[in-house]
Formats: sequence, C-alpha cells, structure tokens
Amino acid sequence: MKLTQQVAIVTGGARGIGREIALTLAREGADIALFDVNAQILEQTVGELRALGRRAEGFAVDVTDGKQVDEGVGKVLDKLGRIDILINNAGITKDGLLIRMDDAQWDRVLNINLKGTFLCTRAVAKHMLKQRRGRIVNIASIVGIIGNAGQANYAASKAGIIGLTKSVAKELASRSITCNAIAPGFIKTEMTDVLPEEAKQRLLAAIPMGELGQPADVANAALFLVSDEARYVTGHVLVVDGGLAM
Ligand code: NAP
Repeated sequence: MKLTQQVAIVTGGARGIGREIALTLAREGADIALFDVNAQILEQTVGELRALGRRAEGFAVDVTDGKQVDEGVGKVLDKLGRIDILINNAGITKDGLLIRMDDAQWDRVLNINLKGTFLCTRAVAKHMLKQRRGRIVNIASIVGIIGNAGQANYAASKAGIIGLTKSVAKELASRSITCNAIAPGFIKTEMTDVLPEEAKQRLLAAIPMGELGQPADVANAALFLVSDEARYVTGHVLVVDGGLAM
C-alpha cells in the first residue's frame, strides 16, 4: 500500500468524484477526513471508508466559510493527528449564457470552486509547511482550459484554480510540498447525469475514446499525484478526458 499512516482531507467527498478519490486513497492505506455540506450522504461514505479498515471522519464544512474551514482542519488534526494530503474537489455548476447570467450565479460558483480551494489550501498549507511535506491536488476541469459556452462562471473558476495551483506550487516547493491540478473531461456523476440527452450525444461524438470517463479514472490520477512516485511533479495540470481537449 502506497499511503499507509497518511491522512487525507477530501472536500466534497461525500459523493461523486470526491467519494471515489477518498475510497481509492483509503484502499492504499490512508485515513480520510471528508469535508462536505451533505450531512446524510457524508455519514454513508464515512461508513464505507471505515468498512475498508481505515480511520475516517466526516465534517460538516462549507468550503466557502473560512472559519468553518479553519475549525475543520483543527478537528482533523485533533482526531487523526496529521494531514499529508489535501484534495480540493468540492465544486458546483450553475450554467447559463453570459448575458443571462446573474451576479448570484457567478458569485456562488466562484465562491465554492475557487475561493473554497484557496481557503482549504491556506488552512492546510500552514500545517504542511511545519511538517515539511505535503501533497495538494486541485480538481479543475478541461473547461478551465478550453472554455465552454454557457459556463463562463465555471470556466473562470477552473482556470483560476489552475493559476492558483501553479502559484502555490512555486511558493511551497522548497518545503517538499507539491501542488498539482487534475483537469477532468466529462465524467459520469450526478453533475453530468443532469445534462440533456442531446447534449450528451454531442459530447460523446467529440470524445475520441467515445465514452464518458468514470470517477475511478480521476481517482487513479489523484492517487498518482499524491504518491511518492510523483515526488518531482509539481505545478502540473493532468488532463483526464478521453482525448476531448487535445
Ligand atoms: P458532485 O457529484 O456534485 O459532488 C460534489 C460534492 O461537493 C457534493 O457532495 C456536494 O454536496 C459537495 N459540495 C458542494 N458545495 C460544497 C461546499 N460549499 N462545501 C463543501 N462541499 C460542497 O460533483 P462531481 O461531479 O463529483 O464533481 C467533483 C469535482 O470535479 C468538482 O469540482 C467538479 O467541478 C469537478 N469536475 C467534474 C466533472 C464531471 O464531469 N463530473 C468534470 C470536470 C470537473 P451536495 O451534494 O450538497 O451538493
């Protein structure tokens, strides 16, 4: 096992890609703390992690609230003793064409996706700096690289995450802390289940591999980036998209 005696925080880890990342890291020996707003599903996922024989704790943390994030990080240290890995995965979409997009739609997406990533990274970095070791993985999107009509807010948040990732990577590299991003294409989760059938068919036609990705495809990329094998990889954006953006 690659991650024995390590502790990982996964934000938005109750379901979807975050849940799959948490399970994948746990199977490699990591103890897991989940930050999520969905209390009911959070407990369910914590149960699945414990069934793997790992220590797991769920914390009701809204990543847009700096106080909740700081307190959550403190509780992880109290209960699990250390933090080696942070996966900034919590994210939402609120799609709409630019001229119809209201301020609230813009603010909510930027707050959760980008500010949430900043707040969690800042809180955990203080601890990792003292520890002189750490792995931070931010879940961006290919939409942050190539853009997408109807997703100006989401694309801006994900492009922001890529800039944040590279800046954090430069700031923390000398203390053996890496910071990388994963840019998934379209992955089969509740986020993409709501796409209209016609949009799904158009997407599938544009993906060279001819299928949506699975949460495990993103989780395996995350596992590589937090492992010792990726020791010398930082500031990288790993695209996991079946060839869509190339
Ligand atoms: P998902 O199934 O909607 O799961 C997201 C999780 O984050 C949910 O449990 C959600 O709770 C939680 N969350 C929402 N707001 C939060 C907040 N303020 N604080 C803490 N947790 C919060 O999404 P997903 O498809 O797994 O996506 C995960 C990440 O991958 C996102 O960053 C997304 O942008 C990115 N991504 C996804 C795809 C894709 O095709 N699915 C592609 C590229 C990138 P609730 O259940 O209460 O909403």
